[in-house]
Amino acid sequence: MKIPKTKKTFCRHCKTQTLHTVALAKKRERGTLKKGSIARLSKRGSAKKGFGNHGKYSRKALSGWKRMGAKSSKKSDFRLKCSICNKTQVKSSKGRTKKLSIEDKN
Ligand SMILES: [Zn+2]
Repeated sequence: MKIPKTKKTFCRHCKTQTLHTVALAKKRERGTLKKGSIARLSKRGSAKKGFGNHGKYSRKALSGWKRMGAKSSKKSDFRLKCSICNKTQVKSSKGRTKKLSIEDKN
């Protein structure tokens, strides 16, 4: 999918539609010791709690019974920078894409 380098969109600091430059935002990995990820793990049942082996050895390999890597496309985040006040905002893409390139509008 091709995306233009500049986009006219609403800036909440200028409170009008202004021209923004578009760039890809870097994806950051979530820390494993963060509160949210520990809560998520315990909800999924894979946090280190209780005793026993949690059925690890009575099951086949994880790829055999769990859908892993099913999706080949990814959602991406865009970093929009206002040309007037130079403030940035991050917006996520609406759809999934396999390939993504930011190009000049012609
Ligand atoms: Zn602005």
